[in-house]
Amino acid sequence: MDGTQILILGLGLEAPWVLKDQHLNTAVSPHRVDLYVETERGSLYPCPACGKACPAHDFAEKTWRHLNFFQHHCYLHAHVPRTKCPEHGVKRIEVPWARQGSDFTLLFEKAAMSLVKKMPGLAVSRQLEISDKQWDGVLPTLPQRRCTTLSGERPLAEESVPCPFHA
Ligand SMILES: [Zn+2]
Repeated sequence: MDGTQILILGLGLEAPWVLKDQHLNTAVSPHRVDLYVETERGSLYPCPACGKACPAHDFAEKTWRHLNFFQHHCYLHAHVPRTKCPEHGVKRIEVPWARQGSDFTLLFEKAAMSLVKKMPGLAVSRQLEISDKQWDGVLPTLPQRRCTTLSGERPLAEESVPCPFHA
């Protein structure tokens, strides 16, 4: 198993997503690893409304903060397609590693959630090495926090975002 295969396994990437490139930048502090995920040209994607395999209409470049790669900050980059479904029109697909609208991967959010149960938010942001502003941005979007702090045991009835921690 080579380094690329280890990264693919670690990210849990599945077709049509593939790891196209990786880059370690040691000129910045802390050092950062950038991973570039793509799909093969001509791939079909499930329409978010009906699941029908549809061609891509266009792509938007997105970046997510991922768990540190050893001591290096790690960022995941991908061109996320919008599908063009004959019935439902143009819709942005969901990627398997992040919730829609989040700037963090699911694994990063999960790490944040397990820490926030044990320590104040400020300490969590220090531990994860994200700025207070980034933490303020991610905190209200964490599903488990809403589940545990607002409803006690379960997601709120009006919770529309599936909670990956209660699956
Ligand atoms: Zn559709």
